[in-house]
Amino acid sequence: MAYIEIDLEKIRYNTKFLKNLLEKKGISIFAITKLVLGDPVIAKAIFDAGIEYIGDSRIDNIIKMREAGIKAKLILIRNPSVSEIPQVIKYADISLNSELQVVKMLSEEAKRQNKLHGIILMVEMGDLREGIMPNTLEPIVKQIIDLKGVELLGIGTNLKCFAGVIPDDTNMIEFSTIAENIQNQFGIKLKFISGGNSANYNWVRSSKNIGLINNLRLGTAILMGLESIKDSPVIELEQNIFTLVGEIVQINKKPKTPKGKFTTNAFGEPSIFKSKKIRGRGFRTQALLNIGRQDIIESGLVPIANIEILGASSDYLIIDVKNNKFKVGDKIKFNMSYESVLRAMTSPFIEKIFFSRI
Ligand SMILES: *Cc1c(COP(=O)(O)O)cnc(C)c1O
Repeated sequence: MAYIEIDLEKIRYNTKFLKNLLEKKGISIFAITKLVLGDPVIAKAIFDAGIEYIGDSRIDNIIKMREAGIKAKLILIRNPSVSEIPQVIKYADISLNSELQVVKMLSEEAKRQNKLHGIILMVEMGDLREGIMPNTLEPIVKQIIDLKGVELLGIGTNLKCFAGVIPDDTNMIEFSTIAENIQNQFGIKLKFISGGNSANYNWVRSSKNIGLINNLRLGTAILMGLESIKDSPVIELEQNIFTLVGEIVQINKKPKTPKGKFTTNAFGEPSIFKSKKIRGRGFRTQALLNIGRQDIIESGLVPIANIEILGASSDYLIIDVKNNKFKVGDKIKFNMSYESVLRAMTSPFIEKIFFSRI
């Protein structure tokens, strides 16, 4: 079986670094675990490193962490579906919302379950994904404040997701002013003024004026060590936390050019052999590994050895082994992109192996 090695020590390191950095600026962190399917071992490492709030986009992941006894406050960071409201109230402490009607239903259900559920209202700041339009915010806040069973804990915004809008001083100060107006208008203090995700990293590091922003929701920065505007590595953080290990199941010399007329591949994509670069006379040593598109996305794999990825079908990764002396059963390691990690964590065919240097 192929497996993914997960370095818990690096996760703890990144968590602590970010916590210390942001604490100095008065910013709390919601650590986001959707990349790892709310894995309780990883959630515990993050909690042990000092993070009190853990968020995930899927209620099933929240349930998994709750049932595993994770002590953090758990936040559903995706708008609740109407059909999952009873579970949201039962298992999540807080949810991010942008529909008044849903917040009213959460209130009814919370009263039924005798709970107090925290609400963070999402505000549209230009990226056009979740969020209430700023000009309609005040009457909605007014109604939520009056509801029983729910408590307005703050407002949030999310950029660099759908449209790809970059967080900067302009939109962050605008968001901060919205928070200020709400606080003044209703005489309340918002516990969370949540400015965004790992795409806010460069902004939060460089900005001279972060306004009232006092929270960020970080997944990619903690788990990949990347800021997410360009997915570039943050020098102070650890990268390559996830290593995929596949195994050679076939290795032999094959012609560099296919035989016969060829059309699209199994997925209907143009054959890689349409490119003259990949064709040629003679032979290459080619290997099949026991991983495929069901488990990874091959464009998101970076081999650690000097080999070349030629492509993948559902069940095999096809590589050119170059000058390496490999044999059947040998293990081949890869660093991974966000998307590849997401898929590998989701695949029941990839074993998850945790290790810790201490
Ligand atoms: C995924 C997500 C995050 C975390 O994003 P990263 O870029 O991985 O830090 C934060 N907020 C919301 C609403 C999300 O969906």
